[in-house]
Amino acid sequence: MRFEDYNIRTDIKRGIAKMGLVKPTDIQYKAIPNILNGEDVLAIAQTGTGKTAAFAIPLISMLGRKKRRERGEGIRAIVMAPTHELAIQITEVINNIARYTTIKSICLHGGVEQDPQIEQLKKGVDILVCTPGRLFDLNHQGYINLKRCEILVLDEADHMLDRGFKKDIEDIIRFLPQKRQTLFFSATINPEIKKLAYSLVSNPIRIQISPKDPISKNVDHAVCFIEMDDKRFFLERFYKEHEDKKILAFVRTKVRAERVVKAMERADIKALSLHGDKDQKSRTKALENFKSGKIRLLIATDVSARGIDIQGVDFVINYDLPEQAENYVHRIGRTGRGRARGQAISFCSEHERPLLQSIEEYIYQPVKELSIEKAEYLETIDLALGNSKRLDDLLGEIESLEEFRRKKKKSKK
Ligand code: AMP
Repeated sequence: MRFEDYNIRTDIKRGIAKMGLVKPTDIQYKAIPNILNGEDVLAIAQTGTGKTAAFAIPLISMLGRKKRRERGEGIRAIVMAPTHELAIQITEVINNIARYTTIKSICLHGGVEQDPQIEQLKKGVDILVCTPGRLFDLNHQGYINLKRCEILVLDEADHMLDRGFKKDIEDIIRFLPQKRQTLFFSATINPEIKKLAYSLVSNPIRIQISPKDPISKNVDHAVCFIEMDDKRFFLERFYKEHEDKKILAFVRTKVRAERVVKAMERADIKALSLHGDKDQKSRTKALENFKSGKIRLLIATDVSARGIDIQGVDFVINYDLPEQAENYVHRIGRTGRGRARGQAISFCSEHERPLLQSIEEYIYQPVKELSIEKAEYLETIDLALGNSKRLDDLLGEIESLEEFRRKKKKSKK
């Protein structure tokens, strides 16, 4: 089956083709026909499976069925996402698919001024992609008319609950028509998520992608044992040995992210960090620079990078192992997107062995070990220290040269 064979409008097929998508992924194959039929959907889909297009294609197709003048005022579909970055990314996918249609989509998220967003709303919008908080604020201020909303999409619902958006979601739902189509996407399922899901959907089609093997088939993942203080040397070596490759490294905390950036700076490596203490502007900039290839190394924390789609991440490095096993899946899902292949390597210290064990339990399989020979381990440290030693020697030489010149000048006087 190819997208060309679907019962969707030609202008949408053109948008899909322009994005280079030809055949549907598993989740798209299962979800698109059901959504087009008007069914509610409850999908448990791992990250990187193509789930955005799985709801965006039928969403645009259904909204496009009505002519512009029959559409009336107000928002026609809401897509809620847990983070600014994910909301921006979803909007990009929707706008790309809808490129040749008259469907208009905008993104509303906090962390930026609301006036330009209000201006955009006034001009008329079909699909609103938003984080729950800003949607709630603008709705409360009377800028959003949800009476005609036909479709509600919740993306990464598990992450929304983690971020404490449950109440915002429930508050917004009260403003939506009872009769609507709801599409609920989550990477994981637990009793709390189930409860939220079943309070929103009615008689849904359930779609589950690879429940027992949550890791994308496109990702090779392995672990190597490296002591905490030595990790920076291995990251440095890895970076230098993989020219032209994009590396996304995950750390446990914001402070660690900054520290690793500094350590890389000392090794002449330009890296940027992505974490919650950075303002929206610098987060967007870091992502743009990484996406465009201006920098090849991005150091991120879990929250800031979840759900982010960056084309062409060659390697994910778990510089620190995640404390929650499910984040392992989210992290390594940042590579091997769509049909591309990717690789993930975890740097595990002695202390982190219990975390590795809970990851293996979570994914129902052992993580392959990449063993490092003692000689190679020492060589990596030597190489890194050697670089800075050479620099120290050089600085020392310059200093003594200047001292020599100063003395010479003095003696001439
Ligand atoms: P998502 O899970 O929506 O974040 O998508 C993950 C990645 O898969 C994105 O980079 C998409 O561009 C890519 N993708 C989505 N659908 C397809 C498809 N049918 N064929 C190839 N790549 C796809």
